[in-house]
Amino acid sequence: MHKKLFLLLILFVLPAAAQTIAIRAGNLLDPAKGAVSKDQIILVENGKITAVGASLAIPKDAQVVDLSKEWVMPGLIDAHTHITFQEIPGKAPFEAMYLKESTAFRALRGLHNGQILLNAGFTTMREVGNEADYACNDLKKAAQNGWIEMPTLQCAGKIIGPFGGQSKGVPEEVGSFWLHEYIDADTPDEIRKAIHQNIYYGADVIKLATDNSDYFYTEEEIRAAADEAHNAGRALAVHVYGGRAADNVIRGGADSVEHGFTLTEAQLKLMKEKGTFLVGTDFPAAHLAGLNPSNETLADANKLGNQIIQRLSNANKIGVKMAFGSDTVTEMAGHNRADMVWDYLAVWRAAGVSPADTLKAMTTNGAELLRIGKERGAIAPGLFADIIAMPADPLQDIESLRKVNFVMKNGKIVRAGK
Ligand SMILES: [Zn+2]
Repeated sequence: MHKKLFLLLILFVLPAAAQTIAIRAGNLLDPAKGAVSKDQIILVENGKITAVGASLAIPKDAQVVDLSKEWVMPGLIDAHTHITFQEIPGKAPFEAMYLKESTAFRALRGLHNGQILLNAGFTTMREVGNEADYACNDLKKAAQNGWIEMPTLQCAGKIIGPFGGQSKGVPEEVGSFWLHEYIDADTPDEIRKAIHQNIYYGADVIKLATDNSDYFYTEEEIRAAADEAHNAGRALAVHVYGGRAADNVIRGGADSVEHGFTLTEAQLKLMKEKGTFLVGTDFPAAHLAGLNPSNETLADANKLGNQIIQRLSNANKIGVKMAFGSDTVTEMAGHNRADMVWDYLAVWRAAGVSPADTLKAMTTNGAELLRIGKERGAIAPGLFADIIAMPADPLQDIESLRKVNFVMKNGKIVRAGK
């Protein structure tokens, strides 16, 4: 064969060598240990971390990213989001949104909010329902196709609940109007069927809502949901505030209690014993006051806000496993979704949770709950390169997270500005 032709063939046949990215991390933070290692090098290739260490040789053709003056850590995980959902201002009922907004519009809102949160440092999020007709799954597919830049999404699909879901007072003549967002399931068999439906349409996690009415799921019903979810390799997340409904959720084997605002010490101790996660969605009082604060709503908000701080403090002291979850569905004037999420940090501080434990809840604990601990939530060889950095130490001041100025998602730099 002609020599030149042979060379040409080789050039076409061999795949182009993947570009290695070498990150110089001045301060590499390990949330699992709450410790910082100085002057580390992280090598990234094909979206994944290939090596981490102090004396690694940087390949000659590598793209070097200089974060030598920064604090570098794994991307953040929000275990309770509704990026496609936004409360309609002006005291409109919650259900009004189903009439006013299409699934396509909801997906576009999800894209908007998802990108804001990705740029703020959230590289993974768990969308726990209220996403119209499976809008989250469409966002996930679009991101997997490479059409859009998004955090890794876990989607719940429609929220499964006893009759009526989380709707209130919808007149009978307009029928099961709430089925746009919820699946009615009132027996173990109906729950199993609803789970099959959600998984068929792309659900990665199963979400139940149990205490919206005077009726709620029994322990047996929760257990049926947990079995069905676990058989399919999914976690079971359950919206519940407290009371007997929460007893059933914990005893029935849910992986996480979502909200749990009125959990007692005995219930928190049972969660610790059973390894149930608390995703506390620890709202600041100002957010609870909502879009139309009056003196009355403000007083109620302060009361619930204090209750949330106390519950978070108790859970922390008892040693319940906690994953960070925001549940933000509003925007206050001049605050986007990321600004709103950062406001939760003050609640965690007020509850006496250390920055190290807060960071753990936002990374390794979240990854464990989402069953992706072998893929994300840490900076280690073999894991996806979801990496963020900021110019101040979040172990000293957790508010440093507001200053994130570098975000890498699956090995791609999506934010490199100062
Ligand atoms: Zn929620």
